[in-house]
Amino acid sequence: MAFYKQQCIHCGQLIDSDARVCNKCGSPSPFYYSCPTCLLEINIGDAACSGCGRPLYITCPFCSGVTFVHANCEKCGKSLMVQCQNHRCNQPQFFENQKCTACGKKIRSTLSK
Ligand SMILES: [Zn+2]
Ligand SMILES: [Zn+2]
Ligand SMILES: [Zn+2]
Ligand SMILES: [Zn+2]
Repeated sequence: MAFYKQQCIHCGQLIDSDARVCNKCGSPSPFYYSCPTCLLEINIGDAACSGCGRPLYITCPFCSGVTFVHANCEKCGKSLMVQCQNHRCNQPQFFENQKCTACGKKIRSTLSK
């Protein structure tokens, strides 16, 4: 079986098309956008997540531009992810998340401005 590469929509790198996690940027959904809060698949242009209802466009804390909820701000390119403080987990989490989507622990936002 031939492996083929597909572009990660988050970082643009070519990775194995059956990869569950991008090995370049660590995204858990390399080929589609997922809600950072409930992980349901979302589409650019949607106003709110159909799973949890969170708005999918937010104001960037760095540049105050409006950006799609995504690992990086569309306007200034800064990372909007923080790392889960549970050392056994350490998963990247969206800075607005109250709880880690991987381990369920509370998150203290450590986004540095
Ligand atoms: Zn990637
Ligand atoms: Zn959601
Ligand atoms: Zn920004
Ligand atoms: Zn965690």
